[in-house]
Amino acid sequence: MGERIRGSAGVKLRKRRLARTGGLCERCGKAGRVRLATRVDHIKPLALGGEDVDENTRNLCEPCHLDVTAEQFGHASPIEGRGVDRSGRPTSPDHPWNRGVIGGAA
Ligand SMILES: [Zn+2]
Repeated sequence: MGERIRGSAGVKLRKRRLARTGGLCERCGKAGRVRLATRVDHIKPLALGGEDVDENTRNLCEPCHLDVTAEQFGHASPIEGRGVDRSGRPTSPDHPWNRGVIGGAA
């Protein structure tokens, strides 16, 4: 993963692209939120053959960037309840701890 254009030219390009939305996240804007964009995201990822042109970019904040990246690369929480809660217990209903397997009630 990475930008094709690097160095100072890349920085300039990024600034110019961010300026298109006044430095705000486009995705949040559509949802009625105002958040600063920190990323110039490729709508079609370069890794998937997308072009590094303005038309293929949008400005996103970090949370939105994580969201769309997960969608693009198919990592968008396919497992329901993935992860652990604050006490470190798995939240997935499929986890043995939550099915009562451990403890003998399965
Ligand atoms: Zn956003």
